[in-house]
Amino acid sequence: MNIIIFGPPLAGKGTQSKKIINDFGLTHLSTGDILRHEKDEKTDLGIQASEYSKKGLLVPDDLVVKVVEKFYLKNSETKGLLFDGYPRNIAQAKHLVEFLKEQNDTIDLIIHLDVKNEELFKRAEKRALEQNRKDDKDPEIVKTRIKEFGAFTLPAVDFIKSQNIKTVSIDGNESIDSIYEIIKNNINSCIK
Ligand code: AMP
Repeated sequence: MNIIIFGPPLAGKGTQSKKIINDFGLTHLSTGDILRHEKDEKTDLGIQASEYSKKGLLVPDDLVVKVVEKFYLKNSETKGLLFDGYPRNIAQAKHLVEFLKEQNDTIDLIIHLDVKNEELFKRAEKRALEQNRKDDKDPEIVKTRIKEFGAFTLPAVDFIKSQNIKTVSIDGNESIDSIYEIIKNNINSCIK
């Protein structure tokens, strides 16, 4: 079973992803986490990607697509993947649909967390203190990341939805537990 979790930066994708992985045994594919790790390891990929990420911009598709394919092939024994932060634009969405088709695989569920921009800014301030993520600290960079989501990722959500994949949109302002309850019910109904 493969799931995509979509939402603007700071919508709570990471928090919900942890719960999903814990309960359903899926493997977390977070392109943001992989790119941050590559940067910490000072690999070419990490250094190249951070030139974009530090400005709040999306990293070029050719870099990210390779990361996703490599991760997928390395985790071929998994029960399923939870895509968090991928796809981020229509080209990546098309890539994912095609790539999974080649692998005789599919996406079973799309989870869309919807959160208003004002709330995202509040959360950025809080997370900047808690996790020391540089891209949360500067409100201008947060603004750019939110804009990138609206300009590129929302159209990708629509593209994926048009592929007749079961989708659930959830108000991300609800409590962590009530959001997860909805997610859990939807995943369970995919399993049945
Ligand atoms: P995230 O942790 O998902 O918020 O991602 C942090 C940063 O990594 C983003 O602002 C982008 O610069 C980069 N990034 C993560 N995933 C992608 C992706 N699928 N496509 C392009 N850039 C990405």
